[in-house]
Amino acid sequence: MNQESTAQAGQGRPPAGKRAVLGLVLPIFFRYRRRLALGLVALIAVDFLQLIIPHLLKIGVDGLADGTATTNHLLAIGGLILLIAFFVAILRFAWRYLIVGFSRLLERHLRNRIFSHILTLDRHFFERRTTGDIMAHASNDLLAVQMACGMGLVAAVDALVMSCAAIGFMVHIHLRLTLLALLPMPLLALCTRLLSARLHQRFNIVQEQFSLLTEFVRTTLVSIRLVKAYTMENLQKRDFEKLGRSYVHSNIRVATIQGLLFPVAGLVGNMGMLLVLYFGGRLVIAGRISLGDFVAFITYLYMLVWPMMAIGWVTNLGQRGMTSLGRIHELLSAAPRLQDRLPAKRPAMPVPGFRLRDLDFVYPAATHPALRHVSLDIGPGILGLTGRTGSGKSTLCKLLARLYPVADGCLFFAGSDVNSLSLDAVRSRIGYVGQETVLFSDTVAANIAMGRPGACRAEIEEAARQAAIHHEILQLPKGYETMIGERGVKLSGGQRQRLALARALLCRRPVLIIDDALSALDVETEYAVIVALRQGLRGKTVLIVSQRIKLLSETDEIVIMEQGTVVDRGGHEELFRRNALYRFMYEKQLHEPGVGTNNVTTGQSASSLKQGINV
Ligand code: ATP
Ligand code: MG
Repeated sequence: MNQESTAQAGQGRPPAGKRAVLGLVLPIFFRYRRRLALGLVALIAVDFLQLIIPHLLKIGVDGLADGTATTNHLLAIGGLILLIAFFVAILRFAWRYLIVGFSRLLERHLRNRIFSHILTLDRHFFERRTTGDIMAHASNDLLAVQMACGMGLVAAVDALVMSCAAIGFMVHIHLRLTLLALLPMPLLALCTRLLSARLHQRFNIVQEQFSLLTEFVRTTLVSIRLVKAYTMENLQKRDFEKLGRSYVHSNIRVATIQGLLFPVAGLVGNMGMLLVLYFGGRLVIAGRISLGDFVAFITYLYMLVWPMMAIGWVTNLGQRGMTSLGRIHELLSAAPRLQDRLPAKRPAMPVPGFRLRDLDFVYPAATHPALRHVSLDIGPGILGLTGRTGSGKSTLCKLLARLYPVADGCLFFAGSDVNSLSLDAVRSRIGYVGQETVLFSDTVAANIAMGRPGACRAEIEEAARQAAIHHEILQLPKGYETMIGERGVKLSGGQRQRLALARALLCRRPVLIIDDALSALDVETEYAVIVALRQGLRGKTVLIVSQRIKLLSETDEIVIMEQGTVVDRGGHEELFRRNALYRFMYEKQLHEPGVGTNNVTTGQSASSLKQGINV
């Protein structure tokens, strides 16, 4: 099956059924079943202990009413109530610890699963989903699921047990009075249902607004220097305030519904109370029930108000939890477009070159192809790649580094179609230095050793020397142990580029792709890097994208791209003679400091320069 179609099976599918969504959390419930069972037993015990209290009150009041009560008798009842309260306190602590703790464990499992799944996804996914959206999953949605499985579960069980038991005790006292007291209940159920449906929709909008807000903050922080340089602070502030206003507005719309749910439940509870006071009072006057029964009945009815209100709250939590779990399920169902086709082969070595045959490529979100009919053999040796901006150089590099899917029969690595090879195996043979340097908030050494965490200091230093950055690292406050990034030393653009190059060199992979990653270097440093590279990379396949004639003249061959196709290919002198764009680039750079006629000329100098730097 084609790779594209495998991947597309993961997209545009109908929303997953409830069973599939719940399948995400049920195994976790099962795993912690003992903890949950203990917690629920404690919770139910609390409910029953609390239900004993009205019965004790009834005994006390009846004793007072018929004059049989003594102070000792009353003290004993008071002491018993205190003892019950003591056990209730202990058991309450126990259920909270066990059940809320469970919800945190569940949250951790889901968070880990989301994170490891995101790591498997490819660029196709990240081009469609913003970071803010993904962050919203990792915070808000997880919180909603955690609340539903923690306090939501507690409230649901509590409400169920309390209401069943309270109604049972009430029926025991007087059946007809109980039915009267419960008369307003169906009204409550109806209101809750209607309001919850609304709540569901509005909650979705809140989540969307939150992800917009998060994304806005993230992009602003990432480009803070740009914001300051263009004095865009006020503009950003205004836009942020606008987003914040819509976020608050949608939250208030959620709050209005929530605000209606609770008072409605309270109102219904008090309607029941009115009926009990009237009809129950008449029963007491007629001597059909005792005064103690009447007091106990009212206490049970009060105990019912909370479960009735909890119905609204629990529905609320449950709805939020299900919506969020649905979104998490959708995220976890997203499949990478690039997947190994089984059985995936490992590339045959040791000729790690590429062969491109009529390669076309269109970006997922684009209408025009970025590459058209590219046919090219790459490696072994150093190949230079140049061309106007937007001509498709980076796209070509990304396809070689297997960051996007390609059609069958267009791209071959080490003699095999890349689609038949294992992705990991291909990627682990390629060192890729992208156009944008990415460094982590960590030490210089850790940044270099990222691709080979086990590398020793001598190897790290060797890679840094090859990238001509070793001496500059030694001048940093703590040398290789200096922290860089957000909370550390800031490096220059050229230093960052060479650090990224050192990282790729340390991996010692047979293929090295450098996408315009030496652009920020001055001519002298660039020269030092090339010298080191030529020495260290003999026999390997190297692709260097550059606009610099001086750098290109050091390569074995140069390819020129225009509008997504290869328009010329040849040695430096050859291209100088026949290619207008190349000659134009050369003449433009001729007068730049450090690019003298003795370095890049039409005559023998390019080859003599190569000899001079120890080819
Ligand atoms: P430069 O010298 O400026 O780095 P380039 O030759 O590397 O340019 P590419 O980055 O390969 O150019 O871009 C080739 C074309 O593909 C451009 O028209 C660009 O707008 C488009 N393009 C690049 N990245 C994407 C993307 N992620 N989605 C859609 N279109 C893209
Ligand atoms: Mg580029």
